[in-house]
Amino acid sequence: MKTINDFDIAIIGGGLAGLATTIAMGKNHRILLIEKDRYPRHRVCGEYVSNEVLPYLRSLGVYPIEHGAKEINTLQISTHTGKSITSNLPMGGFGISRYALEQLLYEQAIQHATIQFETCLEIDFKEDRFSITTKEGSQHTARYVIGAFGKRSNLDKQLERKFIQKKSPWLAVKGHYQYNFEDNLVALHNFKGGYCGLSKTETGVVNACYLTTYSSFKKVKSIQEFQQKVMSKNPLLDVFFSNAKSLFDEPLTISQISFENKKPVENHIFMVGDSAGLIHPLCGNGMAMAVHSAKILSEVFEKHPLTERKKLEVAYATLWKDTFSGRLRTGRLIQKILLRPSLAKTSFGIAKLFPSMVPFVVSKTHGDIIV
Ligand SMILES: Cc1cc2nc3c(=O)[nH]c(=O)nc-3n(C[C@H](O)[C@H](O)[C@H](O)COP(=O)(O)OP(=O)(O)OC[C@H]3O[C@@H](n4cnc5c(N)ncnc54)[C@H](O)[C@@H]3O)c2cc1C
Repeated sequence: MKTINDFDIAIIGGGLAGLATTIAMGKNHRILLIEKDRYPRHRVCGEYVSNEVLPYLRSLGVYPIEHGAKEINTLQISTHTGKSITSNLPMGGFGISRYALEQLLYEQAIQHATIQFETCLEIDFKEDRFSITTKEGSQHTARYVIGAFGKRSNLDKQLERKFIQKKSPWLAVKGHYQYNFEDNLVALHNFKGGYCGLSKTETGVVNACYLTTYSSFKKVKSIQEFQQKVMSKNPLLDVFFSNAKSLFDEPLTISQISFENKKPVENHIFMVGDSAGLIHPLCGNGMAMAVHSAKILSEVFEKHPLTERKKLEVAYATLWKDTFSGRLRTGRLIQKILLRPSLAKTSFGIAKLFPSMVPFVVSKTHGDIIV
């Protein structure tokens, strides 16, 4: 077993939250980042990022627009039957692939930390210190651990987190397509049992990413059949899937996506991004929350010395709840409405009469711009 030096902080997981935390905290602390997969890589995601974090990303040395990200200011939502509303997006956002965005963050993070591409198997806390063991046989020690291992990880089981014991009905599929689509638009098309987001990325391809339930999916034999027979009942999705040319050999899929409540600090581990809580994807705010949580955690660590573990834990947990709990609640409510055809129909009727309602509701799932 090889032993590497002791660190101030070990960050487990190098998605958006882990990478942003590494850059934000790496200037002041000796950091080890452990990530299981090398960059760049495609991830299942809608790839629409809220402008809430654009200035902050720039302060971390990451410039999405300069790398071709599409500036998005318009939202189209449609019902199962294809009735649609188009509205301006109060804060707007940008379209960039995870492939590109994580690579940009990684290029900055590597300047601030030791990065190890291994799978973390165990995190143990004893006598005010963590020991971390990887599948590949490395062992490290650290004063603090930051959990940035996403919505579902082997570590959630090892740490016996509550949400992991419940089965989740949600699965998601994503692909990139060649298709004629407006640069400034993000579309959210509903279908029976789920919804599909469409938006362009920096390369000009359209990302189609949808969330649905096992019960909707098990009635068909393949993804293709699901897209043709279930999703394409929405005429707007029918037009998309009939004309778009798939650029992936196979779409990417993930399952067991849990939206259960989690704790921002658990077993003395500071959770950031989806490890602390996943907002419903229709809000288009999960990536911004991942980056934003990195910012608030780094600020808490700037305020209190490393010797004050309890103060750090209480300060972060309080700030995390104040910043994100309201949006998670609103996200759950919107998800419920959109997935119930009768409620969705009534809400669309009201939104047609009062168009300013759409940007108002969207703003409730987002925070203010952070710098
Ligand atoms: C279907 C779907 C669509 C979405 N669309 C959008 C959208 O359009 N806009 C938006 O803002 N948000 C969207 N989201 C949410 C967004 O994807 C997440 O909120 C965001 O990726 C969270 O980043 P993260 O860094 O917390 O987690 P992740 O990006 O999942 O990163 C976790 C990292 O941890 C690593 N890891 C896990 N376990 C280990 C281990 N044991 N050892 C080492 N490494 C490990 C993983 O390899 C991964 O790199 C969507 C989510 C879903 C499910």
